[in-house]
Amino acid sequence: MLNATFNCKVWSRHRRLRPNEHNLAIAFWRDYLSISQEVRAEKISPYQVTDERGRSGSSLTGVTFTETQAIIYHTRALTGEDIIHELLHVSHSDWNEQMVVQETDRLVVLMSSCAKQISPKLGYAPV
Ligand SMILES: [Zn+2]
Repeated sequence: MLNATFNCKVWSRHRRLRPNEHNLAIAFWRDYLSISQEVRAEKISPYQVTDERGRSGSSLTGVTFTETQAIIYHTRALTGEDIIHELLHVSHSDWNEQMVVQETDRLVVLMSSCAKQISPKLGYAPV
């Protein structure tokens, strides 16, 4: 069940979430996608990321996971869309990138309608 402080702003597709909102959005989508692993987000420096040519300073959002935990690594603030995308990789590990992108787009549309269509499923009333 979600906390009443989880309001409509969290659902905006491109808004960069504040770190304290990461956990709210992760908790929502982890529940929605029936993910059993513990999930956390970890901010890393762009200098820890290299591109195809080995140059450091790249932007990255990605997820690694095991049977018990998933970690979303990010160099910039996460958006709601980022969290849906990365968690779909966890809940549907057999999907390719295109399938994840398509389902992310579908869920973002639900998210953008400000939780009204999702919330009955969870028994959550938007504030
Ligand atoms: Zn992806």
